[in-house]
Amino acid sequence: LLKIEGVWKHYQGLSVLRGIDLEVAPHEVVCLIGASGSGKSTLLRCVNLLETIDDGAIHLDGAEITDVRAGADDVRRRIGMVFQSYNLFPHMTVLDNITLAPRKVHGVRPEEAEARARELLDRFGLADKAGEYPDRLSGGQQQRVAVIRAVATDPRLLLLDEVTSALDPTLVTEVLGVIRELKETGMTMILATHEMGFARDIADTVCFLEGGVLLESGPPEQIFSAPEHPRTQAFLQRVL
Ligand code: ATP
Ligand code: MG
Repeated sequence: LLKIEGVWKHYQGLSVLRGIDLEVAPHEVVCLIGASGSGKSTLLRCVNLLETIDDGAIHLDGAEITDVRAGADDVRRRIGMVFQSYNLFPHMTVLDNITLAPRKVHGVRPEEAEARARELLDRFGLADKAGEYPDRLSGGQQQRVAVIRAVATDPRLLLLDEVTSALDPTLVTEVLGVIRELKETGMTMILATHEMGFARDIADTVCFLEGGVLLESGPPEQIFSAPEHPRTQAFLQRVL
């Protein structure tokens, strides 16, 4: 579904991504782990074309999206992204937040967009919040709405960057529950996370990044129980 090949990214002479290769299969859940500054967010932003890459290529469904001729809007329409700061539109109700992109960008009829939004809100336990404004919701509820908004357009791929790190531990659980539920529905996802327990639980593949290099990847049992690379071992010893 997604193929990242030899991707490099530099910021003013600093190489932040150094030849990243990564393939993501349909329905696969990939967790990116690694110390702060290792390049996790940058990689997600490159996939979503929020950053341009300096070398390499990224393919989505067989087509190169990093080709200068590929339309960034068209690509972003097929990729959902959720950030640490949920970025809900404060002047819109929960329902309007969710239906905006389907209506305006994807041309879905308003009744249809609303029905789909209500169905998602219901599934994720927020049916009674449809008419509320974001500032009347808890952080966990706002983040759940942000996730619903990102999947309301049926993206091929969902990117999640530290979606729980702004939340109280008690609220983390409910957001992780939503992500787990999305996995059940077969959503293909790449998550950057500092929650090792969650990565272990939900990932099909865990990728360890250090200094912009993908040092090691594999199933969680392997990465967390028997990491091969000494740098992965050192990192996990620090954080587990
Ligand atoms: P964290 O776990 O703290 O979120 P991360 O793994 O997501 O870290 P990135 O945000 O991808 O790390 O940053 C990787 C490196 O790129 C860092 O050294 C950072 O300072 C640098 N960087 C990121 N964005 C920019 C930018 N817009 N301009 C210059 N340098 C940047
Ligand atoms: Mg980051």
